[in-house]
Amino acid sequence: MTNPVDHSKVVGVRTRLAGWGANARTEGFLAAPAFASDVRGVLDRSGSVARGLGRSYGDAATNAERQVIGMTAADRFLAFDEETGTLTCEAGTSLESIIAVFAPRGWFPMITPGTKFVTVGGCIANDIHGKAHHVDGCFSNCVDEFTVLLASGEIVLASREQNPDLFWATFGGMGLLGIVLTATIRLRKIETTYFRQKSIKVDDLEEMLAALDEYDSIFPYSVATLDVMATGERLGKGVLTVGDHATLGQLPEELVANPLTVSGPPKIAVPIEMPDITLNPLSIRLVNAAIQKIQSSGGAISHYEKFFYPLDKIANWNRGYGKRGFTQYQFVIPFENGMKRMREILQTILSSGELPFLNVLKRFGREGLGTLSFPREGYTFAIDFPIRANTVALTRRLDAMILDAGGRIYLGKDSFVEPQTFRAMYPGKVEQFLAVKEKYDPEGVFTSDLGRRVQLSK
Ligand SMILES: Cc1cc2nc3c(=O)[nH]c(=O)nc-3n(C[C@H](O)[C@H](O)[C@H](O)COP(=O)(O)OP(=O)(O)OC[C@H]3O[C@@H](n4cnc5c(N)ncnc54)[C@H](O)[C@@H]3O)c2cc1C
Repeated sequence: MTNPVDHSKVVGVRTRLAGWGANARTEGFLAAPAFASDVRGVLDRSGSVARGLGRSYGDAATNAERQVIGMTAADRFLAFDEETGTLTCEAGTSLESIIAVFAPRGWFPMITPGTKFVTVGGCIANDIHGKAHHVDGCFSNCVDEFTVLLASGEIVLASREQNPDLFWATFGGMGLLGIVLTATIRLRKIETTYFRQKSIKVDDLEEMLAALDEYDSIFPYSVATLDVMATGERLGKGVLTVGDHATLGQLPEELVANPLTVSGPPKIAVPIEMPDITLNPLSIRLVNAAIQKIQSSGGAISHYEKFFYPLDKIANWNRGYGKRGFTQYQFVIPFENGMKRMREILQTILSSGELPFLNVLKRFGREGLGTLSFPREGYTFAIDFPIRANTVALTRRLDAMILDAGGRIYLGKDSFVEPQTFRAMYPGKVEQFLAVKEKYDPEGVFTSDLGRRVQLSK
């Protein structure tokens, strides 16, 4: 049962919102407090959820006929310790602005996803992972504490010592326990904003998984892209890119004078949603070939922008998938039987008739402590599909295969998983999360389209 909502009392402007995949839009009431301290004053207790920069692919930050609290104006730096790199900021602060201000001073986000257009609050709610998960773990590893607005209207501090149940359940908790107002995170000391990198061309899946295993113990950052046109014996062919922060001494002479450069805003944009006709097997083949070429031709030294955020160069690149949008399907499966399972999953994807697009393969390290954090030890693969008639059916088939392999999907990317499948993928953890939700939000104030879909909220 959903709560009846008296719309006349909701603070916010009726707005159609979608996730980054733009595959479903719902109308909610978007409030935009200017300061973290204003959030309590606008909170609508009949159903609300926070929204950062909307980079989750599905319905995590949309809330049909209920309130969405846009946090991006609450983006102030509150304190910085130059000795330790410890930063306290409002939760709407983006990694982009942290990099712009602190990289020139020799500090970089400790853990970053594949885009810098995310907020600290969003990184906490999804407990995001980066290319160095096997070394650094999830975002929770760089968070000391945060303040959170609870359903009761109380603002509390959560850390490893204070309210630890709330602290850990908020990581991966998809904004369903409260609104993070401020956070204290640790940045990483860097000598340069460049990376030493190496690209390794690989011919098939066996070689690819062996290369990932081998290079993960040598380089902290590693990620592979598969050639989705390679089938049969070539299945799993692709490029593995590995790297590490470049020290000053490793930079070529021409970069030494200015080792901490920061990139500007994107210079190219996709102005409108592309017509669906532009997506077809031929265009996919061409784009895929271009990606493989770019990946394998990277120089030995690469700026962070290219190393971490190649897609950030093109503003609104998601519009390239057309009006129906797209989904990114990301899963992790255990190492055990990993090769066999991966082969079956890839074969299912490539023989499905769907148009698989950008993809990323990597190894995850140890499971984190966030109650519903996605990463666990194993192989993780993420792949984009433009939405077509049979896309949902394919994701359902894949869900069954992932479940059977003892794996799970990532809510931050998901749009379609069914509640019973989700629950089975996170055995015992959903129940643990719901117990914390009952404690801190017994009336179900915090809810979202995703929360209701996967039954984490009412
Ligand atoms: C190009 C691209 C690459 C990506 N690469 C990766 C990757 O490598 N690894 C990875 O893990 N993810 C990756 N992502 C996903 C992205 O990092 C996450 O979805 C992240 O949470 C988005 O942050 P956001 O600020 O846009 O949050 P939104 O998408 O706006 O919201 C995400 C969730 O956070 C909650 N939330 C936001 N702010 C708050 C707050 N203040 N308090 C409480 N809850 C809040 C929302 O309610 C929602 O549940 C990628 C996304 C894109 C588009």
